[in-house]
Amino acid sequence: MNQFKIIFISLFIIFVALTTTTYSGEKNSTRVQGLFYLDGEPISVVIEDGRISQIIRNKKATSSDVYIAPGLIDVQLNGYAGVSFTQAGLTLEEVRQATRALWKEGVTTYLPTIISASHQRIKENMAVLSDAHEDDEIGVSIPGFFLEGPYISPIDGFRGAHSKEWVRQPDWDEFMEYYEASGGNILQVTLAPEMENAMEFIRKCTARGILVGLGHHNGSAEIIKQAVDAGARISTHLGNGCANTIHRHHNPLWAQLADDRLNATIIVDGHHLTQDEVQVFYKAKGPDRILLVSDVTKLAGMAPGEYNWDGKRVVMTPDGMLKYPEQDVLAGASLPIRIGVGNLMKYTHCPLSEAIHAASRSQARVFGFSDRGEILPGKRADLILFTIENNTLHIIQTIVAGVTVFQQD
Ligand SMILES: [Zn+2]
Repeated sequence: MNQFKIIFISLFIIFVALTTTTYSGEKNSTRVQGLFYLDGEPISVVIEDGRISQIIRNKKATSSDVYIAPGLIDVQLNGYAGVSFTQAGLTLEEVRQATRALWKEGVTTYLPTIISASHQRIKENMAVLSDAHEDDEIGVSIPGFFLEGPYISPIDGFRGAHSKEWVRQPDWDEFMEYYEASGGNILQVTLAPEMENAMEFIRKCTARGILVGLGHHNGSAEIIKQAVDAGARISTHLGNGCANTIHRHHNPLWAQLADDRLNATIIVDGHHLTQDEVQVFYKAKGPDRILLVSDVTKLAGMAPGEYNWDGKRVVMTPDGMLKYPEQDVLAGASLPIRIGVGNLMKYTHCPLSEAIHAASRSQARVFGFSDRGEILPGKRADLILFTIENNTLHIIQTIVAGVTVFQQD
């Protein structure tokens, strides 16, 4: 064979390989169109093998009012649609039900949250969540879990809705049992830094890559600084999990607002924080360090009305306030994170792009979910399509890893 022939055959093989690749790429690709959440301009997002491959600017004008944005990431979610992740006898099927209901609300990634409970309960439920993380259907939306408590302040007000019976001092050996049961998937722990051995506990979590949040606490400025030096990076639902009456100078809020190393999670459901608080937190932390969370409980996603919850009467009002009518106190949150996105725009007058970042990109950055949180080539195709009406997002379609998991009829 002469040299010319070899070159010709080689070129032919390369040509065939290239065209075949293009062909199979085209075959697996789908397109989603909408108004880009960053600037409101029409775009097409090309999805190949579950990932975003291209973002194409559409030249033609459109009359559509459907936006496209990255899927929402909720890092504090106690339960949904009648299921609590801390409840007795939690099953994998119940976690599936909650996850499917959350997809309808545009949540593509979340951290199921277990709160202060008995040793046995936390262990058992962590094991169920571990199965959920591995599950073929829903595991894609559950990268890990959040343990809020049990190492929090036992004092009324700071303790919030956590039962006093289950609150205890940080105990690393005990925590390791939960960590093992979770399959090593606890990604976040919230504790009170003024508890015994808390600093050592924070250092050990940080060394393992577990994010530490400060919450349900009454730490002094000095203790908060020590906790952040030890590795704490989150203020858990800032402004909540705090007594109603606090010292005007010496309280846990100022030190947490002042330290730029702390990212603040906030519940912007219209009930847990006032508009002024949201505005001030947003200004103090800046858009990148504010993370919206829903902190919703099992009654979220249910119809307004009266419920019996663990033997206590709870009322859900039509605007999503969940309260114990006897004591007139909040019984947790009921509105999904998409409501927080709209409220953040309403309260701070920030653009849609910033409000979406506070429910996607910021979480991805803080938690190290490097494959999601933005619409960029190479990222996982976690997308939501929605309209906005009076600062309320209405989800039309939810896509997780390129698969449509919810589509409005
Ligand atoms: Zn809490």
